[in-house]
Amino acid sequence: MISDAVIQTIAGFVPRENIRRREPMNRHTTFRIGGEADCFVEIESMEQLQKLQRYLRIVELPCLVMGNGSNLLISDRGYAGVVLQIGPRMQQIRLEGDRMIVQAGALMSQVAKAAYEQELTGFEFACGIPGTIGGGVVMNAGAYGGELSQVVSQVKVIDREGNVLELDNETMEFGYRTSAIKSHPFTVVEVTLQLAPGEREAIRSRMNELAAKRREKQPLEYPSAGSTFKRPEGYYAGELIMKSGLRGYQIGGARVSDKHCGFIINTGNATYEDVRDLIAYVQERVKACFGVDLEPEVIFVE
Ligand SMILES: Cc1cc2nc3c(=O)[nH]c(=O)nc-3n(C[C@H](O)[C@H](O)[C@H](O)COP(=O)(O)OP(=O)(O)OC[C@H]3O[C@@H](n4cnc5c(N)ncnc54)[C@H](O)[C@@H]3O)c2cc1C
Repeated sequence: MISDAVIQTIAGFVPRENIRRREPMNRHTTFRIGGEADCFVEIESMEQLQKLQRYLRIVELPCLVMGNGSNLLISDRGYAGVVLQIGPRMQQIRLEGDRMIVQAGALMSQVAKAAYEQELTGFEFACGIPGTIGGGVVMNAGAYGGELSQVVSQVKVIDREGNVLELDNETMEFGYRTSAIKSHPFTVVEVTLQLAPGEREAIRSRMNELAAKRREKQPLEYPSAGSTFKRPEGYYAGELIMKSGLRGYQIGGARVSDKHCGFIINTGNATYEDVRDLIAYVQERVKACFGVDLEPEVIFVE
């Protein structure tokens, strides 16, 4: 539980209307799962974040930085600490030649649309990934042969002391669905993308083609966090799960999607435990059938 005095201090850094107590996190995750966070703060500037991070470190309050919540599985017990959302209030995009400088809370779909409008190519692959560019950089999000590491030239972050650091592509240590930020307590505030001049119609038709593929293959009509597991080397997780006889397998309200076995979906009333137990069961069956270890891509928050 967070005291009134702490909330008062936070309200000295961030407008009062951006701060909510006992905020249900199922409103902020694409899985539609998650209990209450003691405190939820919508960040609107780097300066606010610097002050808040410094303060939270001094008072030793746990904090969770999130974007659009599209890769998070949050416990039904909620989050005992402060959730900092880098989202709708930090979405500015500006252009410098072929480079786009994007605030971390901008959605990848918004960035893709802006790139298309400016006739810049290179970002089409990300148009259907339902996260922020900040979350995307942390995860090195990717699809259809592209990933953020191919277009990110600079990442502005702040550390828990509130210092600003500029990381170049190499320092980001991008790997498959990972980056240096996964193991450092940095918060992404701005991302610079290096794109290339392109042809408007070609950009649009590629984005339409990829959106159609997603609609055809993915269970977008259900809440989920996308692919539940990372792709194991030499295999496809969905195929292994299907061949293990788990298509449509259900625990409580959590189900292996019939449309794409790589997705675990919330059929309506899934709990955190339902999803966690289903993930564990799938891992066990796939290991027994194929000897392959599936590693979750989804991030557990307890
Ligand atoms: C239907 C669906 C389809 C998907 N398809 C794809 C796909 O094709 N490819 C793919 O890679 N992913 C996909 N995903 C997963 C997800 O969209 C990506 O992982 C995305 O990059 C997460 O961004 P987010 O803003 O939602 O991050 P969140 O889920 O909010 O957070 C993810 C992680 O990043 C951290 N984080 C978020 N923002 C910041 C920040 N500003 N600074 C520091 N840390 C931060 C969080 O602490 C957490 O560890 C899909 C998800 C869904 C629901």
